[in-house]
Amino acid sequence: MKQVTVLAPAKLNLTLDVLGLESNGYHSLDMIMQTIDLYEQITLRKSRGLSLRLPNSRVPANDSNTAIKAALAFFHYTGLLAGVDIEIRKTVPVRAGMAGGSADAAGVLVGLNALYEAHLSMSELCALGAKIGADVPFALLGGTARVEGVGDLMKALPPCPDCVFVVCMPAAGISTPKAFARYDQIGSNIHPDGAAAERAIRAEDLQALAKEMKNALEESSESCHNAPIREILDKNGALASLMTGSGAAVFGVFDSMEQAEQAAAQLKQSYPQVYIQKPCKGGARVLHSPKRQTEIYL
Ligand code: ATP
Repeated sequence: MKQVTVLAPAKLNLTLDVLGLESNGYHSLDMIMQTIDLYEQITLRKSRGLSLRLPNSRVPANDSNTAIKAALAFFHYTGLLAGVDIEIRKTVPVRAGMAGGSADAAGVLVGLNALYEAHLSMSELCALGAKIGADVPFALLGGTARVEGVGDLMKALPPCPDCVFVVCMPAAGISTPKAFARYDQIGSNIHPDGAAAERAIRAEDLQALAKEMKNALEESSESCHNAPIREILDKNGALASLMTGSGAAVFGVFDSMEQAEQAAAQLKQSYPQVYIQKPCKGGARVLHSPKRQTEIYL
């Protein structure tokens, strides 16, 4: 095999609570994360060197890119004297709180594992990914999961109840470190009950889950877009609306595709990037045949 293509999904935070600040400066969190069917498409070709292209994105293709970090970590760990040419078609908005960078790292790890038939286990891939970013292990696992600690304690949950997400990304993104620094100054009165949200997922109760869907970083968020986006989502029947991660994307959860489409149409009048997405089950995965690719994009 000379080449593989990987699909790596974005995530939304169904809940996000900040529990405290660790002595090492990291925040301990309690989050329920969900992958959605919005994918980065990553093609990896065997090569002697290491190169990265992002043809439709302005994200720098240098050593700070999570894809390069993942490739270096893989070759260092396996000891393989080989290289790879990586091409990433970015679909996930940047600085959105949707973990596009983590999805890219997860996709490169999964793709290299297949390309070089290295047979690394999921736990080995997660250990490599955790060094690149806190969300990378979840990007490998995907589906619905409760993630605690500094992203290191991950519990897979049953799939979240069937629903539709309308995701709206304002023109400007948000820097995650800045969002947490501002939270440290301001704090929050919003603290979702992760255990109650987990119970609602286990009970397949979308209404009960929606009541628990909150984000502790929202009050301290400096984005002026949260309130107007949420207003449109709520007016069109969203069961819940909230920011994902540290922002800037805001999303609503719907039990009706018709209402979701109405909300999306209204948001598109003011915002450039609006997506209607469903929850998806896995994390980054190798695309085995071109036929499957067509099915996914239809
Ligand atoms: P999270 O939800 O994990 O906080 P995010 O959606 O807020 O992630 P990303 O878009 O994943 O943020 O990454 C944001 C920053 O990381 C950008 O400033 C970007 O320059 C840098 N970065 C490095 N590699 C990548 C990559 N492959 N894709 C996107 N951003 C990357």
